[in-house]
Amino acid sequence: MKRFIYADNAATTKLDIDAFEAMKPYLLEEYGNASQPYVFARKPRKALKEARSVIASCINAEPEEIFFTSGGTESNNWVLKSLTSNNQSGIITSAIEHHSVLNAVESATKNSGLAAYLPPTNEGVVLPSVLKKTLSPETKLVSIMFANNEIGTIQPIKELCEIAHEHGALFHTDAVQAVGHVKIDVKELGVDFLSASAHKFNGPKGIGFLYIKKGIKIAPLLNGGAQEFQMRAGTENVAAIVGMAVALEKNCNNLQTNQEHLRALEKKFIDELNIQDIRFVRNGASERIPGNISLSFQNADGEALLHLLDLRGIAVSTGSACDSVHTQISHVLKAIALDESYAKGTIRISLGVNNSIEEIPLMVDAIKYALKV
Ligand code: PLP
Repeated sequence: MKRFIYADNAATTKLDIDAFEAMKPYLLEEYGNASQPYVFARKPRKALKEARSVIASCINAEPEEIFFTSGGTESNNWVLKSLTSNNQSGIITSAIEHHSVLNAVESATKNSGLAAYLPPTNEGVVLPSVLKKTLSPETKLVSIMFANNEIGTIQPIKELCEIAHEHGALFHTDAVQAVGHVKIDVKELGVDFLSASAHKFNGPKGIGFLYIKKGIKIAPLLNGGAQEFQMRAGTENVAAIVGMAVALEKNCNNLQTNQEHLRALEKKFIDELNIQDIRFVRNGASERIPGNISLSFQNADGEALLHLLDLRGIAVSTGSACDSVHTQISHVLKAIALDESYAKGTIRISLGVNNSIEEIPLMVDAIKYALKV
């Protein structure tokens, strides 16, 4: 049987087996509505409470600062729209954010001219000095992602946040690619809001959370019942929340081991490319999310590479989007000013905890073959 290699962990991850096992009772036996007062609802209610504390402690937050959502897109939209929808509040973000931030900012600030998109360096870093120059008295919110999903660059969040606060603006970070992969301490960072998504750290899909610092005022996302401290109504998905907590706790407990494993895989990958004499540019800064390898090959076609690797049972992603006629260069690669001859030939390999060292030479062989076709 052909071997399948999954190397698109920045898109989504495999559900952790312990998370899966922990979820099962809340789908089959303990299915009571956590808001009901009877005995049958006690276990799900307790599980919800425990999951909130576990998640809070993983990022050094308080349990009442964690609000469960359906994932990264929802968390980002909640913050960006509720703080900027009156069309009088300015928002500063970066040109390399995920579309769940960029499109929410556009929707919230339509025609107001109050959105600014900071250009990053060629390595994808949003410089604090650039933020400082852009802040204005209208700026109410600054939203900069913790780590970029295409090229992995980690941003100087603490410094950026301090500058925003000095100017009286609130600070949000989309930490979807970072939570569960690097150490995150919301108190140390000082952020007011932080978005996370379980399926990026071996939890289930369709569940995530928004951290909201105690004392910060934000409008409820959904009105209805009293769930999520009356901020996000709707019957809680207890099983998914429990799965998310188990996956996050496991990742946080194994953070160092996982990081070492992924760094070793990355090193092997780059060494193999060099041994095989494959010419490439690696995108992003040296400070990047473990396992992210964004590679550009001059005069290659990223879409074609993806499909050739797919034929060999290897799942990766591109740095470009194909509209059936033209290959379009992603907004991230444009923003880092990568030469078009490289940008079109970009693929993103994102390794995860389930990848093994034996898979690396197989992937590099497949790339060598695909580049020659
Ligand atoms: N933000 C970033 C940086 C992401 O990479 C993603 C998903 O790819 C999202 C937000 C959206 O998260 P979700 O899939 O949970 O809506």
